Amino acid sequence: MTQIKTSEPYDVMVIGGGINGVGVAADAAGRGLSVLLCDQGDLAGGTSSASSKLIHGGLRYLEYYDFALVKSALHERAILLKSAPHLIKPLQFIMPIHQSPRSIWLLRAGLFLYDFLGAGALPHSKVIHFTSPHPLKSSIHKGFIYSDCFTDDARLVISNAQRAQQYGATLITRMRCLKAQRTQQFWQVMLEDAITHQRHTVYARSLINAAGPWVEQVINQVIQIPSRNRIRLVKGSHILVPKLYEGEQAYILQHTDGRVIFVIPYLQQYSLIGTTDLNYEGALDNVQIDLSEKEYLCSIVNEYFHHPLTLRQILSSWSGLRPLVDDKNTTLAAINRGYKLELQVDEHNKLPLVHVFGGKLTTYRLVAEKVVNSLAPFFAHIGKAWTAQCTLPGGDIPKKDLPLFTQNLIQEFNWLPPTLCQRYAQNYGTFTYTLLENAKALNDLGKDLGHGLYEKEVIYLIQKEWAKTADDILQRRTKLSYVFSEQQSYQLSDYIVNLNNSRLPI
Ligand SMILES: Cc1cc2nc3c(=O)[nH]c(=O)nc-3n(C[C@H](O)[C@H](O)[C@H](O)COP(=O)(O)OP(=O)(O)OC[C@H]3O[C@@H](n4cnc5c(N)ncnc54)[C@H](O)[C@@H]3O)c2cc1C
Repeated sequence: MTQIKTSEPYDVMVIGGGINGVGVAADAAGRGLSVLLCDQGDLAGGTSSASSKLIHGGLRYLEYYDFALVKSALHERAILLKSAPHLIKPLQFIMPIHQSPRSIWLLRAGLFLYDFLGAGALPHSKVIHFTSPHPLKSSIHKGFIYSDCFTDDARLVISNAQRAQQYGATLITRMRCLKAQRTQQFWQVMLEDAITHQRHTVYARSLINAAGPWVEQVINQVIQIPSRNRIRLVKGSHILVPKLYEGEQAYILQHTDGRVIFVIPYLQQYSLIGTTDLNYEGALDNVQIDLSEKEYLCSIVNEYFHHPLTLRQILSSWSGLRPLVDDKNTTLAAINRGYKLELQVDEHNKLPLVHVFGGKLTTYRLVAEKVVNSLAPFFAHIGKAWTAQCTLPGGDIPKKDLPLFTQNLIQEFNWLPPTLCQRYAQNYGTFTYTLLENAKALNDLGKDLGHGLYEKEVIYLIQKEWAKTADDILQRRTKLSYVFSEQQSYQLSDYIVNLNNSRLPI
């Protein structure tokens, strides 16, 4: 069990283990500050595992003249691509010209600007002509192709959490922040273990509210100091279906309502389709897709693709909440996707509190850097901004070349099934060596708990990646949830319980 310091104050206490929270924890710890981060659930258990998984500038934001957001997101795209080559890869998007609410000239100009703002980091866009055989309907002849990046959002969170830990931060999951109040010298923060309900009081010199969709709940119920900003919660859902077509390119489909949806090749055998945009006012902990959203996504796909997609083909679905800065825009798609930081201090200009409103997966590094910059006046010993030049844990792959790295792993560990080597390389990068430490043959990995999830990997995920339950492992750490049967998931849960009871060094 991770030890929390209850006697000495931390420099920084972060509420929330989504991408923004772990980004802040890593940045602050790397600048020499002592950091404690808590999440009420699992790391990436909120919005940060429910995104479209794009590291992108957001082509469609150009339509709202948000050039600054697109430019800064494209700049971040280039930085992240270098820092996590195992987790982030370039992806080409085909935009068919069909039932387009935008003129072809507008699209061409938008893509030209997108290429320009992206400063040539990825191949430029161009016009393409479809020739049969092609997965699109035969009435669709022409389109554009452009480049962006795809990632594994939950693993990006884990990698940042590992970076925070490498620099000495303490991260605790299943630990809810119940109350935080300023005393004369420090923030006094009450935490509650979500499983045992045991309470702990910790102290900190600064407090960061990175609770994503819960940001207002934390303001109103935990901190109870009014804030100037508000958020709008906008639900977005995705569906997973057997792959709709061969090939590695994604599609961006324009709909007559002015929105776009993505169809993205996913985990070799699937197509990931999303997303929707719906105002949300329900419970934050149980966000689910509606039938109408499934129908909406299938109907757009069916406008474009030759083979009809039916609801029965949906294998899985997930929904997340966008915590968008409330700019009073009435059109959901037009609400600004940028972020806002709010710094509050006490009457002595001390004990800073920073709220993070909005933001994208893509801009988390910049958000984290700005949050920690805003703490600089309060900490004499704080270091300089550093994350733009650094590689994330597992990303120190020779020549940043994942296929080559994978190939070398397959040769080096020739006793491992190549598909497993491939999964390890993509998930863990160079940390595959840590995972496979002392293993010389398949037997050394222990029992196969299903679909190549060996005991050794489970223990690694518990020891090194804060995994506590079967869901943490299957949904967020490995994505094996799509192939595991219910029975196999229960067996994995039992295995984890026994492991905890056997008091192995986990
Ligand atoms: C459908 C959809 C698609 C998207 N697609 C993209 C995309 O393709 N590219 C992109 O760049 N962005 C995308 N985004 C946006 C991006 O996913 C979010 O902006 C980002 O994940 C928000 O991260 P966060 O850390 O702020 O929030 P979260 O990931 O939600 O993290 C907040 C955390 O705070 C914790 N917490 C809350 N209250 C407490 C408490 N009291 N005590 C302890 N912990 C607490 C929660 O458990 C949660 O884990 C998408 C969003 C959605 C919804």
